[in-house]
Amino acid sequence: MSNCAIVGINWGDEGKGRMVDLLTEDFDVVVRFQGGGNAGHTVINRYGKFALHLLPSGIFRPNTVNVLGNGVALDPENLWTEMQEIMNKGINLTPDNLKISDHASLLLPWHRDLDELEEMRLKDKKYGSTKQGIAPFYSDKYQKKTILAGELFYPQQLRAHLSDLLDWKNLTLTKVYGASGYTMEMLDQWIETYCEKIKPYICNTGAFLKDAQSRGKNILFEAQLGSLRDLDYGIYPYTTSSNTTAAYAPIGSGIPSAKITDVIGVVKAYSTCVGEGPFVCEMFGEEAEELRKAGFEFGAKTGRPRRVGPIDIVATRYGVEVQAATEIALTKLDVLSYMEKIPVCTSYILDGKETDEFPFPSALSNAKPVIRYFDGWKCDISNARKWEELPEAAQKYVEYIEKTVGCPITYVSVGPERDSIIIRK
Ligand code: GDP
Repeated sequence: MSNCAIVGINWGDEGKGRMVDLLTEDFDVVVRFQGGGNAGHTVINRYGKFALHLLPSGIFRPNTVNVLGNGVALDPENLWTEMQEIMNKGINLTPDNLKISDHASLLLPWHRDLDELEEMRLKDKKYGSTKQGIAPFYSDKYQKKTILAGELFYPQQLRAHLSDLLDWKNLTLTKVYGASGYTMEMLDQWIETYCEKIKPYICNTGAFLKDAQSRGKNILFEAQLGSLRDLDYGIYPYTTSSNTTAAYAPIGSGIPSAKITDVIGVVKAYSTCVGEGPFVCEMFGEEAEELRKAGFEFGAKTGRPRRVGPIDIVATRYGVEVQAATEIALTKLDVLSYMEKIPVCTSYILDGKETDEFPFPSALSNAKPVIRYFDGWKCDISNARKWEELPEAAQKYVEYIEKTVGCPITYVSVGPERDSIIIRK
């Protein structure tokens, strides 16, 4: 029996989806424990190419049970759309292989509106939200102003509860933002069109997980985004609105007694960051354009070009510590094959002094990167399947990251496909 978490070490988009897809073979259950449809895991396998937003990445394995835990932002509309896309490609989704926590809170139709309205109000001070309603959703969850998925089984109480929330939320929509409000008819329609569709999958996932654990099943906890986007440990306020760290996995999954035995931290061989906020190692101009194109760094959900830079050792070491990662999966090493010299951000200069401590968020915008260059390997490494098959320069690059970050790199990914991987253990 093992409890393993797969988490992002940096700003998200590290290639977690690809790693979970690979590793699900060894797990009976895959659980998403936080976040919503605001990011995307890209998975390529024999069924095609998928951008998963809310569904756990184990969904393609016939014998894996997939769970959406109580910690996720459960958007019935987005989830149902995503489920249909997957089902249309011939993948079976049943209450046996997909289970939604009855304790997950529902992202309500107005959360997306509020996200959009607030970003419009902020204009050039905006956070760069994906406008999926995640921040308004989590604010409301902690204000106890949303609905639990299990309430769908109590239609009378549900309507009364929704009607109270509607009165309250219309005040904000109309009086604060001058936008139009919602009606009960609109909510009824929403329940019928989306909530009723996902209802058969809703159950007590806590009980399911407890039972799975007692029967010695292997459970994989899957996170969205990365350490630097964690609400408490990230680059606040440019974080997400939930905890992306492995320590939150048992809480957000419905099995708070679980001990996570292995934490696989996913690190990209270079850095990317979506949206606003400080990004110390950022590259600009042609150099950035070249890397962005080589790694196809455009948002899975929004298509936005991602900001890019060299791997940031300071941020990565911090991210590993925050996640308590026991091993690292280094992805997209193949993308760097075109580079003559490979830049690495080894430390920061802050207030005239060199530091390798990750600074307080407000100090980050004053930090400057110290860049060191490594020899490139200038050849295609995407067919390498063994460590010995990597050129020496690539090995040296990986070993340097491993040493300075202080965590073993047990997987090196050299392509997006399931088998494009070098396992070092
Ligand atoms: P996630 O949210 O952490 O899963 O990240 P993304 O969905 O942004 O995934 C990263 C992208 O890189 C996806 O398009 C993957 O298919 C792709 N990818 C993952 N690993 C590798 C790799 O080792 N090499 C290459 N070339 N692409 C990869």
